[in-house]
Amino acid sequence: MLRQPKAAKAVNKTTARGITTARKVAMKKTPVKTAKKSIVKTSKASFSAAAAASDEYDLVVIGGGPAGYVGAIKAAQLGLKVACVENRGSLGGTCLNVGCIPSKALLNSTHHYYDAKNHFKSLGIEGGEGVSMNHEAMMKTKEGVVTGLTKGIEGLFKKNKVAYVVGKGKITGTNDVTVALNAGGSQSLKAKNIMIATGSEPSVIPGVVVDEERIVTSTGALSLKAVPKRMVVIGAGVIGLELGSVYSRVGSDVTVIGNVNRIAVGVDSEVATAMQKTLTKQGLKFKLGVAVQSVVRKGDEVEVTINKDGATEVVTVDTVLLSTGRKPFMQGLGLEEMGIKFGRSIDINEHYQTNIPNIYAVGDVAGNKPMLAHLAEEEAIAVAENLAGKHGHVDYNSVPSVIYTNPEVACVGASEDDLKAQNIPYKVGKFPFLANSRAATNLSKDGIVKIMACSKTDKILGVHMMGPTAGELIAETVIAMAFGASSEDLARICHPHPGFSEAVGEAAKATAFGKAIHF
Ligand SMILES: Cc1cc2nc3c(=O)[nH]c(=O)nc-3n(C[C@H](O)[C@H](O)[C@H](O)COP(=O)(O)OP(=O)(O)OC[C@H]3O[C@@H](n4cnc5c(N)ncnc54)[C@H](O)[C@@H]3O)c2cc1C
Repeated sequence: MLRQPKAAKAVNKTTARGITTARKVAMKKTPVKTAKKSIVKTSKASFSAAAAASDEYDLVVIGGGPAGYVGAIKAAQLGLKVACVENRGSLGGTCLNVGCIPSKALLNSTHHYYDAKNHFKSLGIEGGEGVSMNHEAMMKTKEGVVTGLTKGIEGLFKKNKVAYVVGKGKITGTNDVTVALNAGGSQSLKAKNIMIATGSEPSVIPGVVVDEERIVTSTGALSLKAVPKRMVVIGAGVIGLELGSVYSRVGSDVTVIGNVNRIAVGVDSEVATAMQKTLTKQGLKFKLGVAVQSVVRKGDEVEVTINKDGATEVVTVDTVLLSTGRKPFMQGLGLEEMGIKFGRSIDINEHYQTNIPNIYAVGDVAGNKPMLAHLAEEEAIAVAENLAGKHGHVDYNSVPSVIYTNPEVACVGASEDDLKAQNIPYKVGKFPFLANSRAATNLSKDGIVKIMACSKTDKILGVHMMGPTAGELIAETVIAMAFGASSEDLARICHPHPGFSEAVGEAAKATAFGKAIHF
């Protein structure tokens, strides 16, 4: 564990009490007695300005997203003195402010609306067809959720004594972070270690002008003023399929355009094909294997010119969502000046160190791996643990990912396509939700669980599924994979009846013994 120098300990006491930078400067010139008085007086001062000008920290984190805030809290819990610098004005990063959380809030609202309109009758509930959507109220609910959760992190910072510095951080020395404070002025932080966790931003098609009104990224799509009548979603990945579903459910005529001949790249192709069929039944249209030539706003409309096999087509809509991926955000960090190596993202070694050993990088901004909030968190925890003399580690073979459409699509590990491409001997077991009793009671029989295991050792290599609560069901298989389970191990586990998780148990039986019981 890192020991705090005496001077740092003294400062720590004061920062926990929330002294503003100006106060701190004043205190330096003030006799101790008066200073103590000031401490009491300023105890309600802005928490965001808690760090003092000459503070030395064991760890300064730049970025308050899932990587940064979780890393800061974990390091503080392990006894380190920590500051977290965030310029957004609210903690939680992309995930809580303009990513995972607001998108799931909109998916939840629109799911209930769609369900009422389309499925209540079959459940014996009358009147569902007549429900209407209050767009403004839905957005307000979403904003309430975001505010509640982001404020919650401020509370966690206070509880764990992490100093929250509101401003833009720049690395100005191996042990120095200079913060351009949002409130004006600047603040220098001394850092034994620095963790870069500045995340990512939407990557857009070159030449396309994003106005976040008619031509929007995911950020704009999460706050549209009204439901567009016609919408094009460019990009058939996670974000495009989720936000395309949101607007399709509330009445938009949504066309998803993708540059390859399938959706949800990375998901097992059999599962992805089933997903496309389901989404098509729900009203989404797909134009796949097409090249986008231009996206141009013309008044209140947007013209999207696409080309497939040499044939050009112009699609005119009200709103275009660009969901063509995200890129690491590295601007203004001082990487060039410091000689920190980066390409598309920041270069790191297996301990998340940059080429300057006490400067780390984690989450979306670092390395080459999926951009996921839970992965960002785990990486930051590993760094915090290593700094505290423990052995932080992330198991990249068992990182789940979920698409929160209805039904949900979830996967961990290799797909059947991966195993084929890599010539790895495997066996596969499948079980459809059509044959699952809980899915029958809930009239949600769409979907399948696929479990791939090594044909020699039976070790589970991957699980890909679509089905009700797949995003939760995947957790069981993540545990199995993390513990190196075989498909037989999973097959012999007792699953609650009637439950969706029985489909996982049945797929495991199909993998281990060649046959499921109920199919
Ligand atoms: C619409 C959408 C839906 C998503 N859904 C999911 C999902 O369901 N599940 C999932 O796992 N992932 C999801 N993601 C991805 C997820 O949001 C990211 O993987 C995750 O937020 C990455 O965390 P991070 O901490 O690395 O970066 P970020 O969350 O991007 O946080 C970085 C923070 O650093 C701050 N920052 C940048 N530079 C500076 C600086 N110089 N000084 C101070 N602060 C700075 C930024 O303001 C930002 O708040 C979604 C993303 C989007 C856009």
